[in-house]
Amino acid sequence: MSELTRHSAARLAEMLAAKEVTSVEVTQAHLDRIAEVDGNINAFLHVNTEEALAVAADVDKARAAGEDLPALAGVPIAIKDLIVTVGQPTTAGSKMLEGWMSPYDATVIKKIRAARMPMLGKTNLDEFAMGSSTEHSAYGPTRNPWDLSRIPGGSGGGSAAAVAAFEAPLALGTDTGGSIRQPAAVTGSVGVKPTYGGVSRYGAIAMASSLDQIGPVSRTVLDSALLHEVIGGHDPHDSTSLTDPVGSLVEAAKTGNVAGMRIGVINELQGEGYDEGVLARFHESLDLLRDAGAEIVEVSCPNFKYALGAYYLIMPSEASSNLAKYDGVRFGHRVLPAESPLTIERVMGATRAAGFGDEVKRRIILGTYALSAGYYDAYYGSAQKVRTLIQRDFDAAFAQADVLISPTSPVPAFKLGEKLNDPLAMYLNDVATIPANLAGIPGISIPGGLADGLPVGIQFLAPAREDARLYRAGHVLETLLEEKWGGPLLSQAPDLRQLSGAETTSGAK
Ligand code: GLN
Repeated sequence: MSELTRHSAARLAEMLAAKEVTSVEVTQAHLDRIAEVDGNINAFLHVNTEEALAVAADVDKARAAGEDLPALAGVPIAIKDLIVTVGQPTTAGSKMLEGWMSPYDATVIKKIRAARMPMLGKTNLDEFAMGSSTEHSAYGPTRNPWDLSRIPGGSGGGSAAAVAAFEAPLALGTDTGGSIRQPAAVTGSVGVKPTYGGVSRYGAIAMASSLDQIGPVSRTVLDSALLHEVIGGHDPHDSTSLTDPVGSLVEAAKTGNVAGMRIGVINELQGEGYDEGVLARFHESLDLLRDAGAEIVEVSCPNFKYALGAYYLIMPSEASSNLAKYDGVRFGHRVLPAESPLTIERVMGATRAAGFGDEVKRRIILGTYALSAGYYDAYYGSAQKVRTLIQRDFDAAFAQADVLISPTSPVPAFKLGEKLNDPLAMYLNDVATIPANLAGIPGISIPGGLADGLPVGIQFLAPAREDARLYRAGHVLETLLEEKWGGPLLSQAPDLRQLSGAETTSGAK
């Protein structure tokens, strides 16, 4: 593997600016790495070789001509295949959109283009972002670079695995209930869910519109801050977009000081259901932060015990409405039924039966039921009330603490297939990440060490619009932990070449 793929995005940007390396070299090194390992990982659904190299060559030419370039110009990036792109297919991990080409770019993609970052390709995900393991992709599961027999988290397992396997220095994900943070946690990478409205959702295929948020995936806290500044900001195409400026996230990620910062430990997000190794790493992090001068306080969020229940009513309700457009009539997959006469209902039925996988169908049925007349108040209405209670829990907690802390995922990466037929066990993986989506607040997951040789994630949460606090606290803990480990956690990841012969299960490409 070329050394170039080991560098952080910040370091690559420096080397590019100093003309020590060209963007074509950097981009080619990542494309070579994808060719070398992605047969085992299956992080990419589409590799964008030609366009990526053309953008890289353009950046190199501009740099040689002395043009003023954006900070990440020439640094390549991978894109979750839920975000629409001109010139590359967008599938949402579903047969429903197989081969579909978007006629327009998402706002974040326009910003990536303006930042002159070569796009390496589109990454695998659970179908329409529903899942915690990437096993619900119609295109086979992605595998965890730390152990190919294990899941890389989900729904954005492709983006996290690509970054953790050094196939890309940066990636974009989407987080509706944890799909950026949980995959980051179980692959040893960094993932950020920005404040709701902080990054435009225009062109992110909608799952649950009141919860969805696009955000960065990277190997360092600073790299996520750099990318967050590129993609953030107001967008008139998104009616829920905030008008506030993004703030100095990069500056915050370099501050390196938590002295006097009040860090609240959420009582309800530890204990029962949390793996012992995860809790051990979590407590080590608390000790390090305390030694660095942070004030560790305990906070209680009593309504969090209802968060998962409320999420699994609100999310399917919104998804059942958002996914109604995949009807075989206007665009995407179409299946003509055998029965005649050919009615629109029959075409829709046959198309949706063949085009959607089990998990998507399960949620459409759940959501349609929860929204039906007579049940609406009992289910959707009650869930919305719980959502308010959770927001109030956060308000009370943030009166006592500047940021909150918890494990990101209650368990490290589990085996492929282990929870596939047990939806409730699968849903429990998001117990610590979902409250932030219900409240619209930002969260970050950073590597917290290993439990039985597998990565554990530490999550920080901040009040809405205070994303900068996440970068400050995250960067400090990252520095303290790396001092302890003698380097980044991912430098301890096993060499994928040794894993190449590992057992493969069905479904891989
Ligand atoms: N795993 C959660 C779910 O299945 C979260 C998904 C997401 O954030 N997109 O709904």
